Amino acid sequence: MQGRSLYIHIPFCRSKCPYCGFYSISYNEDPARAYVDILLGQIERIKEDISTIYIGGGTPSALPAYLLVKLLRGLKRFTGDDVEFTVEANPESLDREKLRLFCDEGVNRLSIGIQSFTDEKLQKLGRIHSAAEAINAIEISRKAGFENISIDLIFGVWGEAASDWRAELKKAARSPVKHISCYSLTYEENTALLAAKEAGNVLPLDGEAVAEMYEYALDYLPGQGFEHYEVSNFAGKDHRCRHNLNYWDNDPYIGLGASAVSYLNGIRTTNVPDIGEYIKRARAQKDPAGSSEKLSDMDRAKETAAVKIRTKEGIDFGWFGEKTGFDLCGLEEEALPALIEKGLIGYKTEDKNTIGIRLTRKGFLFCDAVSSGLL
Ligand code: SF4
Repeated sequence: MQGRSLYIHIPFCRSKCPYCGFYSISYNEDPARAYVDILLGQIERIKEDISTIYIGGGTPSALPAYLLVKLLRGLKRFTGDDVEFTVEANPESLDREKLRLFCDEGVNRLSIGIQSFTDEKLQKLGRIHSAAEAINAIEISRKAGFENISIDLIFGVWGEAASDWRAELKKAARSPVKHISCYSLTYEENTALLAAKEAGNVLPLDGEAVAEMYEYALDYLPGQGFEHYEVSNFAGKDHRCRHNLNYWDNDPYIGLGASAVSYLNGIRTTNVPDIGEYIKRARAQKDPAGSSEKLSDMDRAKETAAVKIRTKEGIDFGWFGEKTGFDLCGLEEEALPALIEKGLIGYKTEDKNTIGIRLTRKGFLFCDAVSSGLL
């Protein structure tokens, strides 16, 4: 059996980006040291085999080298050629020393939060790195020996023209990366960006302009060797992100750290999104979960449909039945005809047989609505 996926949340950033809805705080050495020690204890207690590790955040590379070494060494027993081991990094906190230690400690995939290759857009987004630092981060990662590099890009920023986005994608496709994630800017609850929008200080692009940018990525990147394999993700040959594929298969995963989510034995637990409380609970040997939810078999099956539909392959009826014990057409007897009628999903055929469903091109544009429709 394939091993579990392990996610570790590092909730530190050098500064808070105004659009960010993730749990993160400014780096502070004392809680960071305590936090890493607690994570090491939790890692030691993992009994399962692990097939993918993803250290995300926040900004894992915001940790100083000595804490990163400690954390990575604690994960040593899980690493190996067949384990995908990703660390997220941001350009301003990635340097040769950290790259060397990532390589030495078994990290084999880097996900760099580039977001944009233009200074003006980076400033609008409140990012603290420059375009030159973004390019440099990719270059030094390659030189350090990383072949499997992923970058994140944001599109649909207010004032952004379609031609600006096309130029960004061109730069991304020509850079030595193997994976590109493209996210449209969203206005999340409790963020400074949403407040700015509500105060009338930011005028979001209209939906049509944003959709046009997304469609350009759909058309352009595959021609540059990046297969569109999930709503927001494009991969070079054999470089799909295995960790995220596990999520989209709705397979179990272990989440460690403040705000991290675990999904084991049909129970979803979300850790408290507060590092002080997380440390306090761990020291008192209390459960770090702030909430937990036991999903019924039917809820699990519907969730599987809602996440798997995001992938290029969509959902095969046979796969779905084997995985969940439910017949997809029976389970979604109201939702499927409605989504097909709206042109958001279509049937997959093989040898003239209908074998499953998948998103249509229009469906990719409205994927969140499709997923909600299946829940
Ligand atoms: S660096 Fe990433 S996690 Fe940190 S505040 Fe910015 S967007 Fe959020």
